[in-house]
Amino acid sequence: MALGHPSREATPKWVYYFAAGDSEGRADMSDLLGGKGANLAEMANLGLPVPPGFTITTEVCGLYYRNQRSLPEGLVPQVERALERVGKETGFSFGNEENPLLVAVRSGGRASMPGMMDTILNLGLNDRTVQGLARNSNDERFAYDSYRRFIQMYGDVVLGVDHAVFEDILDNFKNLNGFSFDTELGAGEWREVIAAYKGAIEDSGSAPFPQDTNEQLWGAIGAVFGSWQNNRAVTYRRLHAIPESWGTAVNVQAMVFGNMGNTSATGVAFTRNPSTGANEIYGEYLINAQGEDVVSGIRTPHTLTIKAREEAEDPNPSLEDELPGAFHELKLIFGALESRYRDMQDIEFTIQNGKVWMLQTRSGKRTAEAAVKIAVDLAAEGVIRRDEAVLRVDPSSFTQLLHPTIDPSAEMELLTSGLPASPGAASGEIVFSSDEAERQKQQGRAVILVRTETSPEDIHGMHAAAGILTARGGMTSHAAVVARGMGVPCVSGAGAIRINEQAATLSVGQRVLKAGDIVTIDGATGRVYVGEVPMRQPQLSGDFASLIAWADAAGGLSVRANADTPKDARQARAFGAQGIGLCRTEHMFFDAERILTMREMICATNEAGRKSALARILPVQRADFVELFEIMGELPVTIRLLDPPLHEFLPRQERELEAVAAQLKMPIDKLKARVDELSEFNPMLGLRGSRLAIRYPEITEMQARAIFEAAIEAGKRQGVTVEPEIMIPLVAYRREYDILAGVIRNTADTIEKEAGVRLAYKLGTMIELPRACLRAGDLADGEDGADFFSFGTNDLTQTALGLSRDDAAPILSAYATQGIYDADPFASIDQQGVGELVRIGVERGREKKPTLKIGICGEHGGDPDSIAFFHSAGFDYVSCSPFRVPVARLAAAQAAIRAKLDA
Ligand code: PEP
Ligand code: MG
Repeated sequence: MALGHPSREATPKWVYYFAAGDSEGRADMSDLLGGKGANLAEMANLGLPVPPGFTITTEVCGLYYRNQRSLPEGLVPQVERALERVGKETGFSFGNEENPLLVAVRSGGRASMPGMMDTILNLGLNDRTVQGLARNSNDERFAYDSYRRFIQMYGDVVLGVDHAVFEDILDNFKNLNGFSFDTELGAGEWREVIAAYKGAIEDSGSAPFPQDTNEQLWGAIGAVFGSWQNNRAVTYRRLHAIPESWGTAVNVQAMVFGNMGNTSATGVAFTRNPSTGANEIYGEYLINAQGEDVVSGIRTPHTLTIKAREEAEDPNPSLEDELPGAFHELKLIFGALESRYRDMQDIEFTIQNGKVWMLQTRSGKRTAEAAVKIAVDLAAEGVIRRDEAVLRVDPSSFTQLLHPTIDPSAEMELLTSGLPASPGAASGEIVFSSDEAERQKQQGRAVILVRTETSPEDIHGMHAAAGILTARGGMTSHAAVVARGMGVPCVSGAGAIRINEQAATLSVGQRVLKAGDIVTIDGATGRVYVGEVPMRQPQLSGDFASLIAWADAAGGLSVRANADTPKDARQARAFGAQGIGLCRTEHMFFDAERILTMREMICATNEAGRKSALARILPVQRADFVELFEIMGELPVTIRLLDPPLHEFLPRQERELEAVAAQLKMPIDKLKARVDELSEFNPMLGLRGSRLAIRYPEITEMQARAIFEAAIEAGKRQGVTVEPEIMIPLVAYRREYDILAGVIRNTADTIEKEAGVRLAYKLGTMIELPRACLRAGDLADGEDGADFFSFGTNDLTQTALGLSRDDAAPILSAYATQGIYDADPFASIDQQGVGELVRIGVERGREKKPTLKIGICGEHGGDPDSIAFFHSAGFDYVSCSPFRVPVARLAAAQAAIRAKLDA
């Protein structure tokens, strides 16, 4: 272990001691002590039974990396003093052969990163202290079992010997000697395994396993700080936007033993059900085991409560059956922790000879469904306020609630079943490795990642997969916890599955499936089906409806939807959209029958030809609008005039060209000439948007007529006034706006005369070019200026960054890795750059017209961070795809609540 140079200045406080009723830390010190350290200190402050220990601060982690992975020297005396205090408190002594103190060394950053960093248990054991432990515990088997666990962990984490080496030794030993379970091995057998472990460490060429307990301790502390930069931790931080600079703390804590026999146990518990949110204790335990046995999925743990046991029809006794006294004490502690933290807690505990010890508490990760239920229940219980409940749910996680579920009326072939580890149903091709999952995802395939069990090395594959299926592991196994956090459907512990990675097959009994075969998993029931199964769309009611009603009451931005079809519009209404913020009319023309007329219009050589084709498009377009207006009732509907370059409607491939030429009864050469004529080097910057409309005003005239006639018809049918909002795309100059507004107004005047009615409508423009932001005052100025702006932040980002939205993908990943972009600027708005243009546009537009209505209809309208920005910039509404409407409603409410709280 390398130590840095001594500092001349007084060393800062780097070590914080904790013990029941006597802690130097507090719950609100997680920046310094990490979440685990701060909460251990807090539990100790509450007088709960916490094994004494100390936390080395996250500051030391920073120093460790700044000093080329060496720890500051001033740390040594602080650790020694704290270790002595732990000894006094426990009555043991570190390194003492008669009465050895054993410690656990664990990581713990500010944000929880479950399983990503390293842990070492039973530290302080060597060939001599193990005998002291055997004498003191009166249990030689326990002492040697603990020692071999320690060598295994230390060998893996500190000395870098692959854990599979140790697992193979143990498996071989058991096979050779006819043992099935670890619990069958006695002290003598463990001694043999220990000798083999030590031999394997020597053979591996690493440093030998240290007998000096101080060397063990510093080796472990260094390794845990080092694990902040291991690959899985780095990936996890990238996926969860956790800054590199935070660092981890290290917790050194007196060991308590769940593996001391049949009145000892270890377990994890949630104070409420993290899958459903039900107010019931939920979790798992193992008798005579240490913590890693539960989370690693190696042994399948049992239920905590009698109720859960009965529901699961589990033949094994629950903790409540087995150790009722300890269970009762835990229940009281859970209540105390929930009142203190005002939230559902995720807890790790150990029972040593009947005595309960608390090892961790933190706010528990939960599914979106559970998050909603818990927030609503806590508000109903009077623990939190309604606006706090709204803040408690992560808007992005709402997409989990929008997961389809399996249609119960569908015919299905059940393959097998496991545990319902993370809700939602998913179909996909099976893959057996995380790298493969990632590769297939990049090629646009939906995959189900199938593993015996997952480990933190699998997170990239779990992220890429549509669903996860594991053969082993309980509801708190790595796969289950991580999948729930990610919102990926997961079935874990499907024990009947046999996986042959080499052959890339999975079998259940005689049934064999190969990589690429399709399965469907149902993370809500744990069932796995062969092939693709029909799904049902989700219903949003109950707690969800309460929460969203509280969110709407917070007075945030209103939320509209981008909807081009009746199906989208119905979905948008079902999700509570307050209007349509963008109807892209071009999407109405891609239908097989309509595109032909559209192509005729585009290929027409003169205005008369175009007008004749447009006359045939008119009734179709009008009927589309009537349907949209009817679905939306009195809610506002913003319709955008045709935007994309015309060649998007024309064929490219030779075969298609031939077919279209035949359909249009046009010589192929003439068609090709027209396609050539329309092709552009930079179509995104070419003949599109308002330019297209100015070039072919008859298209605008037809669209305006379709909109107005539809408004009259839908209004009559429903007995209401339909007031459409017509929007002109890609405007940079006031003159462009005036020319097109003129066409629309003239059309309106004509129709008013024809139909003898007065039309009500609004005219506005998209703001998607930097010039439009800068000259927003011109665009809004006066009676005839725009009534509303809708920021098209897709094009605005493209034009402000000079980065093609269709070619950005490879650039984005390089730019993200090198820290040039914090986030994909097409997904989350670049607040500094594009955001400044947006603010200028809002300010200059409102300066000329204070009543100007302002919205956004780019992709950013469904992104929670961007929504907070639009709130602060003074927008009236955001518009996003229908499935993001609930996300946006919650995000809009949170922005409003936070702004109020900050004020
Ligand atoms: C935009 O540019 O943000 C927008 C909504 O228009 P489109 O994506 O259709 O170009
Ligand atoms: Mg656009």
